[in-house]
Amino acid sequence: MLQDQQYLRIPGPTPIPPSVQRAMAQPMIGHRGNETSDLLRSIKPRLKKVFGTDQDVMIITGSGTSGLEAAVVNAVKPLGEVLVIVTGAFGARFVQICEAYGIRVHMYEVEWGQAFNPHEIQEYLRKFPEVSAVFATYCETSTGVMNPIHELASAVKEVSDALIIVDGVSCVGGVETKMDEWGIDIMVTGSQKAFMLPAGLMFIAVSERAWEVVYSNPNRGFYLDLSKYRKDLEKDTTPFTPALSLLFGLDQALELMDTEGLENVYGRHTLMKEMVREAFRALEIPLLTNDEDASDTVTAVQPEDFDAEEFRKVIKKEFGLSVAGGQERLKGKIFRIGHMGYCSPADILQTLGMMEIGLIKAGKNIELGQGVAAAQRIYLEKGENDR
Ligand SMILES: *Cc1c(COP(=O)(O)O)cnc(C)c1O
Repeated sequence: MLQDQQYLRIPGPTPIPPSVQRAMAQPMIGHRGNETSDLLRSIKPRLKKVFGTDQDVMIITGSGTSGLEAAVVNAVKPLGEVLVIVTGAFGARFVQICEAYGIRVHMYEVEWGQAFNPHEIQEYLRKFPEVSAVFATYCETSTGVMNPIHELASAVKEVSDALIIVDGVSCVGGVETKMDEWGIDIMVTGSQKAFMLPAGLMFIAVSERAWEVVYSNPNRGFYLDLSKYRKDLEKDTTPFTPALSLLFGLDQALELMDTEGLENVYGRHTLMKEMVREAFRALEIPLLTNDEDASDTVTAVQPEDFDAEEFRKVIKKEFGLSVAGGQERLKGKIFRIGHMGYCSPADILQTLGMMEIGLIKAGKNIELGQGVAAAQRIYLEKGENDR
């Protein structure tokens, strides 16, 4: 096998485009000079468009989880009471973070593999008038579910003033996000998923309503105190040394998204989802989620008559193809294909071809080519070739 060849089809980290890689190799600059301010000025408006907000999107060094923690520590006062909607492992992480800060958590859990229903959340919330924030996951990476985030705020607002706080780590940048229009108060994402960058940056935006809560919170911590980042970003600077190499990369990644056009980026992700799902349907291998709940960025497959872990081992060894396994209660029961960021329909066709061989080697009886052909038909029907 070619030693440098890796096919990374996990739901983050994702492959890095060559031009982003090159941008990150630029010589270091001073973080208090004009060059850094110019860089932030170039990034700011484009990041806002991706989030669908008029608020400045803060860029903080840390993995996605630091963004979840920032949301908790800034927007929930000590001893506060919150509702966390849990649709999988990442919803559960919000519970853990809140509990680490001594916050009282009401957990609304749905069966893993399904999306939440905003009306059921609304009913549940009526019972807890003291809840000051509702936490939700946009794409639940552990199950491949995309939750109806666009409908959450309007449902919650009928019964509560609670802030709406969303983990968008595994999809913002790959799917439509209209933070302001949908009434989201805090949106968090990270660099290593749909943004086509290495891990190391988190992005977080805060609504005007949520800023009021943040400023009235006596205990915002230190490094993750968002008021510091907001104040400095207004002057195109940062409170602490930024991860400059990642900012060079971010500038270029946003350039790529802009050139493709955000609508086309989103369309590409939807197309890849449909190709993957149709392929597994043709191969008669069950998917974990139904079509309505399925994410555009990650697909979970639930084998019945072959071993998911054996299959993953085979494709890694044969081709250097990585897909993710299941997490926690789904460990060993599913495998998950990441199709986000620097990933195209062409990559999906190749991935499916490799996976069919892996299926046979893992003992699953399939007819070669059926999955690939199904994906090709979707492409011919819905794909747009405008290169
Ligand atoms: C990847 C991911 C995170 C953050 O994980 P880090 O390892 O801290 O970057 C958070 N939420 C979701 C939904 C994710 O997919």
